[in-house]
Amino acid sequence: MATHCPYCALQCGMNVAGGAAGAGGAGGTGTVEITPRTDIPANSGGLCQKGWTAGELLAGGARLTTPLLHGEPVGWDEALDFVADRIRALQAEHGPDGVAVFGGGGLTNEKAYLLGKFARVVLRTSQIDYNGRFCMSSAAAASNRAFGMDRGLPFPITDLAGAGAVLLAGGNMAETMPPFVRHLAAMRERGGRLVVADPRRTATARLADLHLQPAPGTDLALALGLLHLAITEGHVDGAYVAERTNGFEAVATSVAAWWPERVERVTGVPVAQLRLAVEILGTVDRAVILTGRGAEQHAKGTDTVTAFINLALALGLPGRPGSGYGCVTGQGNGQGGREHGQKADQLPGYRRIDDPAAREHVAEVWGIDPAEIPGPGRSAYELLDALGTPAGPRALLLFGSNPVISAPRAGHVADRLRSLDLLVVSDLVLSETAALADVVLPTAQWAEEEGTMTNLEGRVLLRRRALDPPPGVRTDLEIIQGLAVRLGGPADGPRGAAGFPADPRAVFDELRRASAGGIADYSGITYERVAAETGVFWPCPGTGHPGTPRPFLDRFATPDGRARFVPVEHRPPGEDVDADYPLYLTTGRVLAHYQSGAQTRRIAALNAVVSGTFVEIHPDLAERLGVSAGQRLRVVSRRGETEGVARVNPAIRSDTVFMPFHWAGANLLTNPALDPVSRMPEFKLCAVRLERVG
Ligand code: SF4
Repeated sequence: MATHCPYCALQCGMNVAGGAAGAGGAGGTGTVEITPRTDIPANSGGLCQKGWTAGELLAGGARLTTPLLHGEPVGWDEALDFVADRIRALQAEHGPDGVAVFGGGGLTNEKAYLLGKFARVVLRTSQIDYNGRFCMSSAAAASNRAFGMDRGLPFPITDLAGAGAVLLAGGNMAETMPPFVRHLAAMRERGGRLVVADPRRTATARLADLHLQPAPGTDLALALGLLHLAITEGHVDGAYVAERTNGFEAVATSVAAWWPERVERVTGVPVAQLRLAVEILGTVDRAVILTGRGAEQHAKGTDTVTAFINLALALGLPGRPGSGYGCVTGQGNGQGGREHGQKADQLPGYRRIDDPAAREHVAEVWGIDPAEIPGPGRSAYELLDALGTPAGPRALLLFGSNPVISAPRAGHVADRLRSLDLLVVSDLVLSETAALADVVLPTAQWAEEEGTMTNLEGRVLLRRRALDPPPGVRTDLEIIQGLAVRLGGPADGPRGAAGFPADPRAVFDELRRASAGGIADYSGITYERVAAETGVFWPCPGTGHPGTPRPFLDRFATPDGRARFVPVEHRPPGEDVDADYPLYLTTGRVLAHYQSGAQTRRIAALNAVVSGTFVEIHPDLAERLGVSAGQRLRVVSRRGETEGVARVNPAIRSDTVFMPFHWAGANLLTNPALDPVSRMPEFKLCAVRLERVG
């Protein structure tokens, strides 16, 4: 059965066969064979080791197959009745906002849509956000303010092959999504050059023609310095700036003081490398600037991405074929997950929840009064931080997320979850967060249910059902419907079963109507088209519309059609190193694991590659500490401490420590300082000290 990978935003096409019978067979038994599809351009025949081994998720024995109530197996009616009764009681005592909802960037478009609707229409709570806030929200905020639209790559991924140069800031696709590297390799085979900015000499940085190695937290200064040089070296595309943008003069003035020697002092990147990077980008006809989490997950992430967009605009890149700016979204449905209403400040169609016209349109689709839609609620970390406090929610319904591992200051977040009167977790395995829950609801997973995903290109794709879920398991849509029936009034009304279908095609048809006229307009996209055309790009405002692979060719999505330069200024991180905490900690991924590891840590073949956390340090630092590879290290920040095995690697700066975040530990240390625009926490940088254990 042709479908897509359960993991990252590349959404590689794959075929699922075997198990207990292919289509219609029973999951949970037998070997499932995965092979790559060649018809999906994102991977065109490639998969990474996570994708190749994804069949183990379907055949594995770690699945939950019965609801748990306070750790004891119970039937579905007992579990859902308990949840509904507790929600009713808690909302009677604390009001609608006494109950919160937390979603995930891996949920299908249908789930994200129905979850947002359930929160606003049935629970009538404003307290809903999702883990995508932890992923690419700073890039989304920066794209929205520059272009009036946030679509990860506003061009097909295959355009990269035609670029003369790519600057990648803070991304490591050789480990996070290896088939992406094929597109960069195709560019280089045609003579294009790759520049990577990353404090670590990652697997991707090793592929680059030029590796800029800025100090952690200085990407913004780096981007300001590159723009300064682009201006002084005569690389600004004056005709493009005049015709397609506003605000260049103010930005040019703001970078005047970022002369190369000052940038070298702040970032540590030599002046000669800065000049070479600008020459590479400024002397080719087509170039692309990409950002990843390394540049984005900071308390100044929105401004950092804005600075790279300013550079792209000055060079005349966005909106030209084979050129542009793009964000390399991480989670499987990181793009679609932020478009359909599970975000605190948004309604379906990527509409703002405080826009009266948006409220009116969506309320009409939902069959309710616009005034009934609650206003914007807390962002993800602020929501988790408020749980169980006198002014915060007393209950949380959580779908497709594992914040005990993935949230910043994770020890504190776990304490907040423990303080709740009701925690309900829907998951396919007993994750660390599910282990704290009063009620655990076992769900179907990727190849056991149908649904659409929107990949990092803005291409809507179809995940097909290849196997039946194990007996006892329900889909998230069935769970939401079950709760709506218990809490929402008459089953045939907008708040009951009729308003909450469990059939993904029925949900998608409603999503199309709700998104019509919005920025992310899916009204012309159907399951049949997605299957026949191997994906359709939004916006697609009619069934006769071809979709929009390159939305900025003629105009940007701003009121006057012009892109906006926005002046930004470098500033220090949320916390800096000092005598007590003299080293930077930065966190990231390894090839064999995905996100919080709830899925990949349960796959033997992946654990055989990397089975636990580690602390990567430079040989000079190892010598200073008297530590050799394999010894245990304690890593201490102002929020907590953890341990890991030392890995000594000259690829990292000697003032920096790296830890992967797929295991408990790294996020006990991280700093929840928030970006003022996107509310993204500063995952990529905090101050730590190292101690030898024993
Ligand atoms: Fe492709 Fe990402 Fe899946 Fe790897 S994890 S196979 S890169 S979708």
